[in-house]
Amino acid sequence: MDDATLSGFAALLRERREAAERTLLRNSEDGRDLLSARGDGTADDEHDPEGSTLSGEWAMLEALRADTEHELAEIDAALLRQQSGTYGRCAECGRDIPEARLRARPMTRTCVACAEVVERR
Ligand SMILES: [Zn+2]
Repeated sequence: MDDATLSGFAALLRERREAAERTLLRNSEDGRDLLSARGDGTADDEHDPEGSTLSGEWAMLEALRADTEHELAEIDAALLRQQSGTYGRCAECGRDIPEARLRARPMTRTCVACAEVVERR
């Protein structure tokens, strides 16, 4: 992969990283709002219909946070691979990952064939 292509993917990864960080920030703000809504003493999950709505929202926030943190870890791992010069090479078979696949999934570690094998494991 040439340097221009590589830096294109680096920019793409950094954009994704910023978006994920914004999501996490918004997520923690929403979480605080939800906590203060709970903290007023009326949010009883067992008896208060409003309470179960809050715990549903909380579960959604938690799921989003977990997804986003997972994505951030994948982005950071991809950026590290760029620094070490292994970005774009399949972690399983060592062949180059096609650029079209990297454009669609810039954090991917494997080529399509190996991804299918890994998923079947
Ligand atoms: Zn492979």
